[in-house]
Amino acid sequence: MHLKNGAKIAIIGGGPAGSFFAHFALMHAKRLGIKVSVTIFEKKCFDKKGAPGCNMSAGVLSESLLDKLTEQHIHLPPSCIQQEIEGYFLQVPEYGIPLHYPYPPHKTRIAAVFRGSGPRFANRDVSNSFDYFLLEHAQNVGADVVLHPIINIEIPKNPNDLIKLTYGEGASKGEYTADLVVGAFGVNSDTPLELNKLGFGYTPPKTVRTCIMDIYPTRTINDALYGNNIYVFSLGLKFIKFASFIPKGEFLTICLVGKKDMDKAQLNTFMNQPKIQKMIPEGWADPKKRCICFPNIPVNHARHPYTNRLVIIGDAGISRTYKNGIDSAFTTAQLAAKTAFERGVSEKDFEEGYFKPAERLLGRDNIYGGIILMANDIISRQKHVVSSHIKYMSEHPDTWETRWMNEVLWNTVTGNATYKDIFLKSIHPRLLLSLFSVTLRSIAKKSQTC
Ligand SMILES: Cc1cc2nc3c(=O)[nH]c(=O)nc-3n(C[C@H](O)[C@H](O)[C@H](O)COP(=O)(O)OP(=O)(O)OC[C@H]3O[C@@H](n4cnc5c(N)ncnc54)[C@H](O)[C@@H]3O)c2cc1C
Repeated sequence: MHLKNGAKIAIIGGGPAGSFFAHFALMHAKRLGIKVSVTIFEKKCFDKKGAPGCNMSAGVLSESLLDKLTEQHIHLPPSCIQQEIEGYFLQVPEYGIPLHYPYPPHKTRIAAVFRGSGPRFANRDVSNSFDYFLLEHAQNVGADVVLHPIINIEIPKNPNDLIKLTYGEGASKGEYTADLVVGAFGVNSDTPLELNKLGFGYTPPKTVRTCIMDIYPTRTINDALYGNNIYVFSLGLKFIKFASFIPKGEFLTICLVGKKDMDKAQLNTFMNQPKIQKMIPEGWADPKKRCICFPNIPVNHARHPYTNRLVIIGDAGISRTYKNGIDSAFTTAQLAAKTAFERGVSEKDFEEGYFKPAERLLGRDNIYGGIILMANDIISRQKHVVSSHIKYMSEHPDTWETRWMNEVLWNTVTGNATYKDIFLKSIHPRLLLSLFSVTLRSIAKKSQTC
């Protein structure tokens, strides 16, 4: 089952995964000298402010993603970048330390963006959404965009027949038959559940509800409080896996990921922590100047995200848990497009060419990620242990232990290395022994002062 001249490809969802797939599909078609038509169906307008235009995320573009975009000649315009990030700052209850790129003299390349056209309260049109830029890029390389939702999918019994999609509502309702359907619909709509009902074995990823709040401290306050740094908090709160502040020009994005579904009460509990109160501009609670959402994040990957003529990519398929989801969207789009053009579009082709490699690359690494996050949960609750290590790092910046820990922490917060590499680096016996003695010394000192 192969894509031939005149083949029609429908992509459900114009977020990063959908736009990247269009980019790669049109590139392969050009290389192979076949003409295909690629249509992206998207239900949001990314040039709108607030929820109607936003694919809710912290909006941090990792260095590896920025490098991949450059390799693909996808040049992010400066107007899309709200702030260039130079470093991270790790804050534990009593101490804080800056984290920096472990291999000088390389200069960090991390960008903070808005996925839509900025928070709903923004009084100017931010109008430089990352997702808008990517979708426009897909159009520039030849994709058509239909700003309507897909409301029905009919998979034929005979795999040689085409898949029928229904889109839009009322007068704008229409049908589209496709040689290949790409599901790039993420995990924040009912579409994954609709696909699950089609009975080809697709089970969407499990998710937890996170919390994102944009506020408006002004540029001057942002610069004074955070500079060009992302602040990451490990305050030992039971319900939080990790929390971060991302400065974006005059705005600040606060991102909370919990162990279970987050709600507004937990957001308020976090914001009212004494440490946070000292680090947050006054007026953050003004309901007219904040934009809050509770998006889902996948915590595992989908089962069987493919069948004949249909493949599911990005968050709705398989992604790296908790880190650099847009990078995973890029990788899965690239693998799926290569499979469709070089192998074919049958269930077997997608299993061998797309899913198995993606599982090896992302799924297996997520096992190490799970261990790291579990260990982090346990350690971060031992506030004294965490504080003694961070204190040691801030007081002894030039020791090998500090450099080693900086590398582990930097790669953990940025997602720059695989979870496997981070895991192996963090369990090195020499490091563990040294940290153990730091903890013992600090416990002994504490008991002397009591
Ligand atoms: C709290 C939080 C913070 C995050 N921070 C980061 C970060 O800093 N950096 C990073 O790289 N990743 C981050 N992520 C992950 C990132 O947001 C996702 O991995 C990424 O958006 C996945 O891209 P996608 O295209 O698969 O899905 P999405 O971005 O969700 O896009 C899916 C698109 O499909 C559309 N759609 C759905 N159903 C239909 C339909 N029936 N018809 C038409 N259109 C449809 C939706 O409107 C949407 O535009 C974060 C996620 C969360 C929850």
